[in-house]
Amino acid sequence: TAVMACKRGALIVLEGVDKAGKTTQCKKLVHALQQSGRPAEMMRFPERTTTIGQLISAYLENKSDLEDHTVHLLPLMKKKLEQGTTLVVDRYAFSGVAFTSAKPGFCLDWCMKPDVGLPKPDLVMFLQLSPAEAALRGQFGEERYETSVFQRAVQQKFEHLMKDPSVNWRAIDASQSIEDVHENIMTHSLNNINAAENLPLGELWK
Ligand code: ADP
Repeated sequence: TAVMACKRGALIVLEGVDKAGKTTQCKKLVHALQQSGRPAEMMRFPERTTTIGQLISAYLENKSDLEDHTVHLLPLMKKKLEQGTTLVVDRYAFSGVAFTSAKPGFCLDWCMKPDVGLPKPDLVMFLQLSPAEAALRGQFGEERYETSVFQRAVQQKFEHLMKDPSVNWRAIDASQSIEDVHENIMTHSLNNINAAENLPLGELWK
């Protein structure tokens, strides 16, 4: 027919341990995409150590004092993607699962359950950086989970999650300069945005 369907945006996620450069690179990616004429927005979830599904259900069950807008995040994400906006997300379900399951007594599969069925990212770039290199990036140890022993446990959980072939993982060497990492991320993102245009949005871990 003569009616052109609106091409959807891509759901692009940056993951990785603390100080890997996720926030820096999300901002640069969104800026570069916008500069190239592609609608793009950055997204973050309010509490990165809690899974997104748990955040929403806790809110619905009135168990937490989450801000009102949290519960609207998922419908908003879907709407923006449908409207053609590419979303660049600074940490998604993977971080929550990796952080929670790295604590003693939490099994990985159990930690994944609340986030099954979330909008599935079209691309998850894992910014790889050794704990030693991360420690050189300053302010190490100030945040709740930033001790290198814990970081190593988190890294192992991420490695396990990355073996799942149903998710489009791409490992990125985050030890390079900010500009080099950005170029790499931009290349993968552009390829992915073009591919995602014609594909339906998937459901995570289903
Ligand atoms: P994250 O969001 O993964 O915790 P940030 O983007 O906040 O990481 O970066 C952590 C710190 O490391 C910041 O001070 C940032 O300027 C610096 N940084 C980020 N990327 C690089 C890089 N490629 N090389 C050196 N320093 C970097």
